[in-house]
Amino acid sequence: MDLDLFDAELELIKRHYLGMKAQRWNADDDTMRGDNNPLYTKRLEPQLLFGRGYRAGIDVREQRKNNSFYEELIAKRAEYSGEDVSAFVQPSKEPLSFKQRDIEDKDINKTHWTEKPVAEMTTRDWRIFREDFQIFIRGGRVPVPMRVWSEGPLPWELLEAVQKVGYARPTPIQMQAIPIACQCRDLIAVAETGSGKTAAYILPMLSYVKKLPKLDDTSAQDGPYGIVLAPSRELVIQIEEEARKFAAFCDCRMVSVVGGRDAEQQAFTLRQGVEICMATPGRLCDSLDKRHTVLNQCTYVVIDEADKMVDLGFEDYVRRVLLAIPASNMKADKEDDAEKQEEDAKVGKRKYRITQMFSATMPPAIERMARSFLRCPAIINVGDPGQAKKDIEQQLEFISEAKKKKRLEEMLVGAEPPIIVFVNQKKAVDVLSKSLDNNGYRVCSIHGGKSQEQREWAMNSFKEGRYDILVATDVAGRGLDIEGVQRVINFDMPKTIEDYTHRIGRTGRAGLKGLAISFVTPEDSEIFYDLTNFLKSSNQVVPPELASHPASKFKPGTVNEHGQVMGRKLVDQVVFAKK
Ligand code: ADP
Ligand code: MG
Repeated sequence: MDLDLFDAELELIKRHYLGMKAQRWNADDDTMRGDNNPLYTKRLEPQLLFGRGYRAGIDVREQRKNNSFYEELIAKRAEYSGEDVSAFVQPSKEPLSFKQRDIEDKDINKTHWTEKPVAEMTTRDWRIFREDFQIFIRGGRVPVPMRVWSEGPLPWELLEAVQKVGYARPTPIQMQAIPIACQCRDLIAVAETGSGKTAAYILPMLSYVKKLPKLDDTSAQDGPYGIVLAPSRELVIQIEEEARKFAAFCDCRMVSVVGGRDAEQQAFTLRQGVEICMATPGRLCDSLDKRHTVLNQCTYVVIDEADKMVDLGFEDYVRRVLLAIPASNMKADKEDDAEKQEEDAKVGKRKYRITQMFSATMPPAIERMARSFLRCPAIINVGDPGQAKKDIEQQLEFISEAKKKKRLEEMLVGAEPPIIVFVNQKKAVDVLSKSLDNNGYRVCSIHGGKSQEQREWAMNSFKEGRYDILVATDVAGRGLDIEGVQRVINFDMPKTIEDYTHRIGRTGRAGLKGLAISFVTPEDSEIFYDLTNFLKSSNQVVPPELASHPASKFKPGTVNEHGQVMGRKLVDQVVFAKK
């Protein structure tokens, strides 16, 4: 008898009658090894839905959706039986119509504009730079802005003066206006009050005047080289104060011609010779009429606060002053000719009149004036985000909180990546990105709760195209520069219009078109007023639901005639009991 077989039988008998424990399984005895039954290889992960009306928190149909085992089985059967089984087969969970990006071998370590020398700045870098500082330009052939003073065209004496005055960096309007002015170009500059417009025109004017021969007794009789017109006495004096900070460094004389001061004294100073004259238009007209001065050699004209000038009815005075300057120095109407003349003026071959208008707004009357007195001007607009965002189509969808997720998934069908989805809470980032991931999208996420490395890694992978969708909180909203973002989806509406601007600004960058879609719920009413205005200012359609909402009509916190606080949710109001 085979001894081995005997031992084995004995073992079995012992186990059966003595209840002895079986030996542990040998790995080799695993009959399941190498079994490719999809039922076991693709295990179902329970997706718990407690509290949603499902038994044990499990929706069996949902579970099935995530596993294609049955579909494959039916399909296989159909292969040999020839049956039409399409009714049984669920669509593949792959988001078929969603275009996935190819992973690009992008140089993600590209340096930011802040770290590049001027020579290495690309056209795109300049565009981003201007966007970051909200500098918007029109009019063509606009020179690049100066990021710091030393990059600009100003002579060293003025740079020294600027440093002494303590202006560490140029303001956005100065960054762009000074290089334009130094090209002898006409300019319309629109920027809000307090943005440093005075220095933006005085510095190039001083630099211009400095290159001209100093006025002597004879040449002084032909009047100043440059004039600045401002609508009020106070403003003129303020401008003179600002100009004097720098003037000493280039030996430039100036005078204010305003009412309420000794006119004789002003006339005397003018006759003695001043390079620059600041004036209110009425008073200057007066001086011209009385022959206190002439404008025979004036080739640099700045009209400051042009909008106020029109409001106060000074338009005619301004015209009279401008007509008093010899027209022979006017540049040509035609772009090409004007450009050549600017070149000539720049190298000092011949003088042509430079006319610039500075204003906080741009009413039609100013455009009219600009058309008759300016020649092929460059136009700068600073800090008007509405102006910027014309390249971004903004859509709003009024929706309930519960329907957002489904709607998002519908929206992603056919959408072109890369896409950024903004939500308001960290937790929601995790939930949403997990859910999109489960649906087969290539999605990554960032929020403030993640470590710096995690955030950087996600960011870089998204830039490279390894992921198509980035789900993020506002941490990604500011300052990020991702190339070619096609869409921004505000899954949650941000709390402030500033955040909204920053978020939608991630798309439509560097002159490309972009689309921003926002889900809006009644809970977001606090932003309605600002949002309505923002949409209007950026030439977008205001949807009727928003336009007709009471919160769109009042700034949050304003009180109506009944003493009720308007435009704010009731829960936020402090209600005092009447005594
Ligand atoms: P605007 O004419 O646009 O209303 P101003 O020219 O009157 O603005 O300037 C507003 C204030 O900003 C002034 O007090 C001015 O001294 C200051 N300022 C201007 N340029 C700079 C700068 N580059 N850095 C710091 N302060 C500046
Ligand atoms: Mg000003």
